This record gives sequence, structure tokens and C-alpha cells, in this order.
Amino acid sequence: MYLKLEHPPVPIDGHLSLLDPKLADELTSLAADLRHLRFIHVNSTAVGGGVAEILQSMVPLMNSLGLTTERIVIEGNPEFFQVTKRIHNLLQGAEGSLSAQEFESYFQTNRGVADEFARMGLTADVWFFHDPQVLPLASMLPARNGEIRNWICHIDLTSPNQSTINSLLPMTEDYDSLIFSLQTYVPQGLGEIPVYIAPPAIDPLTEKNTPLGEAEALKTVAAMGIDPDRPMITQVSRFDLWKDPCGVIDAYRMARQHIPGLQLALLGLSQATDDPESLDVFHQVEDHAAGDPDIHLYFYADGLPYSIDHLVNAFQVASKVVMQKSTREGFGLTVTEAMWKGKPVIGGNVGGIRIQIENGVNGFLVDSPQECADRIVQLMRDPALCARLSEAARDSVRERFLLPRLTLDYLRVVKQRLDGPGGNGVAHGVFVNGADGADSPIPDVSSNGVKAKP
Ligand code: UDP
Repeated sequence: MYLKLEHPPVPIDGHLSLLDPKLADELTSLAADLRHLRFIHVNSTAVGGGVAEILQSMVPLMNSLGLTTERIVIEGNPEFFQVTKRIHNLLQGAEGSLSAQEFESYFQTNRGVADEFARMGLTADVWFFHDPQVLPLASMLPARNGEIRNWICHIDLTSPNQSTINSLLPMTEDYDSLIFSLQTYVPQGLGEIPVYIAPPAIDPLTEKNTPLGEAEALKTVAAMGIDPDRPMITQVSRFDLWKDPCGVIDAYRMARQHIPGLQLALLGLSQATDDPESLDVFHQVEDHAAGDPDIHLYFYADGLPYSIDHLVNAFQVASKVVMQKSTREGFGLTVTEAMWKGKPVIGGNVGGIRIQIENGVNGFLVDSPQECADRIVQLMRDPALCARLSEAARDSVRERFLLPRLTLDYLRVVKQRLDGPGGNGVAHGVFVNGADGADSPIPDVSSNGVKAKP
């Protein structure tokens, strides 16, 4: 019912050197304080998607900081993952409601996982349960004195399906803290559980995010069928309708009328075992592309000439413009990844993309395929604009969205729960990022010591 993944420590000097020195000190001393605790992260897929991406880097980083940290991935049958994908869609605002049978499948798998944890004697001092797939687990595990159970929700909860969120919210009562990516996602009607805001982050040291020369990137995309002598634009995303792949194709078609020879790549190499809808969406997108030889769709992950991380890196580097035209987006690590590479990014004006892109400063936000096409054309014709956005994009990621900052956020939550309300002068339910107004395009994350933009 579950897998335990090995994530041995990695050298951390590279991480710490990218962090504000004050924060780096805080991270190492907080880790030293918490070294007696055992941590477990639990989620529902080993690879594919943003949460897996974060955990495969955060778990080794925590181990390197001297914190005994394990990673558990739950297993379920296809029906369970159909249901959890529906829950994901409903929480992002889809219409409908879950049937009694769907709830039963959801609870049955979680009960099986909880029983297996008990049978195997799996215990932790601090649990991080990621996303709705595993939300019921806290209520199903036997209570243990002093354990801290955190639920982290990475979903865009801007306008959730009300009946679904009403059914799920009572389960948050079994947690010691709740962590959301943006303040605007915090649902109404939560009990007294402390709530924190901690937007995701990328690992700058992985193969996906380390510097790659343009020549190498072009060679790689050429091996994937792209003409390296003509301009290319890309969206890197699972084939998921919330990522609006058909809207991206529409934007490309409009832009191509002004940029002859333009090519489009949609890179959504199927890996996430908790996303059963992607094949269907891929077929819809294939139909929408209507055999255009300059629209390159990548879905099947078998027999690739390079690793997936290298491919993502190369497509982002080789693109003139990177798009993430989502209509809902919890955060959007692909936006961060491209901005870190200094690419001009055009993002959908939604959710987590809005806290990363400040329109016209470090990228563009758009509300329609037409706007997206206009921005593509503008960027392709104005290298000086690209250079300006590119520098600002990289700076903003360095300041706010690298992994040690997120690790520090999580450890601060643990510390505050250990100290209790009033302990160590920390308020009950404080917002980690100090973003206590509505989310602004650039949130004030100054309580992390990370500079907010003026
Ligand atoms: N990704 C990947 N290969 C692909 C498409 C996506 O490795 O073909 C990665 C992408 O680089 C990013 C993650 O999957 O790290 C997606 O995270 P994001 O937050 O953008 O979206 P999610 O899939 O969690 O909705």
C-alpha cells in the first residue's frame, strides 16, 4: 500500500550559498534544534508533477541538514486515482459532486495505507501530508503524544466546488497545522487549526535547473524533431485541461501569422501515476493540433534520447518564449523553472502564477489566447524587452522561490508547533510569509528575511 523512497543526503553548500546568509544561518541552526526529531513526507506519486518534484529535492536536503527524513508514496488502485483526480478538479472549481461510492474508494485506500503504516510500525515525530489524496490519513493513524501532523495543500483553491470542499474540510481538524501556497487559497470555515502560507520553490541544483548552454540545448531539441534554425516557443506541462494546452495552440496559430516559421512544443512527458486523465487530454490536444508539422507534442516517456530533466531544461533554454497559460494553477513550478533560466515567461493570470510574475516587470500575465499571441509577437520583436524581463525574472526567483526558503518555512512551522501558542514569542496561527493582506502580485515574504520587491 505504500513505497518508501531512498533520498540520501546531498552536498548543501551549493544551496546555502544561494541563500541570504541570515536565512542560511537560521536554516542550519533551526535544523540543529530539530535534529532529535524524525520526519516523514507522504504524497501520492513518486515522479511527475510539482509535489514529487519538490519532495525529491527537499527530502535529501533535509537529510543533509542532519534531519532524519523519509519519503513515503502511497499506492492505490486505478479507481482511487480516478477519484482523487476528480477531487483535484472539483477543488479547482469543476462542477459536480462526489458519489458515495467515490468517497468510499477514497477512504478505503487511505484506511488500507493507515493500517499498513501501523502494521509496519511506521511512526514519525513530524508528518507532512501533501495534497488531498492523503488528507484522511491523519484521522486514521493512532494518536501519538507529541506528534505533529501537517497538511500541505498545493492546489489552486481560488473558487473551489463548494460541496466538495465542505465534505473535505472537517478532515483538516485532525491536523496540527495547515499550509497553503497563497493566502487567497485559505478556505472559509476552517476551525482553530493554525494556518501558514508557504509558496513552493525549485531546486536550482538539479539537472533540470542547472545552467545549460544554448548550443547544447538546440542540439537536444533538434534530436527531438525541432528545427534549430527556426524560432520555438514552449509550454512544459502535464496534459491537463487546467493548463489550457488548446489555448496555447490557438495563441501559437495567431502569433505565427506574424512570426513566419514559428514552432510550438508542448512537453508533457507522462510520468505522474496519480493523473489518469492525461492520455485523454493528450488525444484532445492532438486533435486540436490537426497534424500541423510545426506543433510538437511530447507525451510518451519511453525510449527518449535524453533524461526528462535534461529535456525540460533544454526545451526551456532553447525557447524564445516560455508559456504557462493555465486557467487554474496552484503555483506553477514550470514558471519558476523558466524564469530561473532567464526566459521571458507568459503566464495565465491566475493563482500561483500571479505571485511569481509581475506583469511587464519580470514576465507577462494574460487572460486570453489573443493576449498571449500579442505578447509572443511583442517579445519576439523586442530583444531589449526580453533582456530586461529576463534579468528581473532570474532575480525574483533567486530572492523568493528557491528550495532552502521553502524548507525553512516548513521547519519554522514545526518549531512554532513545538513551542506552542505564545512559546518563543510566536503567535498562534501566524502566517509564515507575513502576507497578511490579500495576495499581492509580489507577496511580502520579508519575515523570511527575503527581500520583497519595492
Ligand atoms: N515536468 C516534467 N516533465 C514534463 C512536464 C513537466 O518533468 O514533461 C515537471 C516540470 O518541470 C515541473 C513539474 O513537472 O517541475 C510540474 O509542476 P507544476 O507546479 O508546474 O505543475 P503540476 O504538474 O504540479 O500541476
